[in-house]
Amino acid sequence: MPAHVPNRSGPSGPSGPSRRSVLTTAGLVAAGVALDGTVGASSASAAAAPAIFYSPHQDDEAIGLAGSILEHKAAGRPVYLVLVSKGENGGLAEYMNQGDCKTLGDRCSAPGHHHRLGWQESWPTPEVVAGRTAEFALSAKALGVDKVINFKLSDEAFGDYDNFVKKVMAKVRALAQQYPGASHKFAAGWLDGTDTHKACSDAAYWLMKNGELTDVRFNYIYAYKHFSDPADRGRGADYVLHIPAAHMARKRASILAYNTWDPGRNLYSLGYHSVSDWLEPAYADPREFVYTLPKKYKPGKL
Ligand SMILES: [Zn+2]
Ligand SMILES: [Zn+2]
Repeated sequence: MPAHVPNRSGPSGPSGPSRRSVLTTAGLVAAGVALDGTVGASSASAAAAPAIFYSPHQDDEAIGLAGSILEHKAAGRPVYLVLVSKGENGGLAEYMNQGDCKTLGDRCSAPGHHHRLGWQESWPTPEVVAGRTAEFALSAKALGVDKVINFKLSDEAFGDYDNFVKKVMAKVRALAQQYPGASHKFAAGWLDGTDTHKACSDAAYWLMKNGELTDVRFNYIYAYKHFSDPADRGRGADYVLHIPAAHMARKRASILAYNTWDPGRNLYSLGYHSVSDWLEPAYADPREFVYTLPKKYKPGKL
């Protein structure tokens, strides 16, 4: 990989080399080359029960699950990656329609930092869903997961929350029955503090209560955003994963999938326009924060 220089500053403006964040498209291409030799090397572990990771939205797996995914792969486990919600997002469509990029300015990887895509801004934002899912697929490829599963649930946690939890439960239950002995990894939604993530935790909570899930862990995906000082992240975690350098390179490739501008592949840097403030610290911090369910867990909408 070419060297990335975090927080490098330089001349701005459309003609000069713009200020680049640590996330660049060039980095992605180089990382993709390096990954070719390692994908598909898990046949020896085909008999092992899978570790199933549930990403509430496109980008959550890159931010806070990638290192754990690679850890399980390295331990010989097949890893399945689930995308829970479709990730409808009207605000992101507005960003993409705005012309000169006010969201990212010269950090925007579109030519001239300009995009007027004419995307539908009202629910269910089909172009946003397709673009985000293309980024997710590229990220999953970078991580070398054995299977990608898309629940295709409308992100309705902000509306009929309880119904959304039930839908997630039904889908997770089906996987638990299909793959006995699987371990299940969710977002620590009670810490992340968004309804969609909390709904995933709640689904796990209810299924654990019924005895339908036993081996369950939760990653604090928003720790990077919630604590600007890295020393504050992971306090109270049951396990802090220190991601080895080789795995961190792949996690970064997964993050870079969310800052790649390549319309021919339906890639529009949507993740970076949406949550650059979360992707940047996750890119810089080679740790993930793993929790078990708290004893006093309270299910329900936040
Ligand atoms: Zn999310
Ligand atoms: Zn932009």
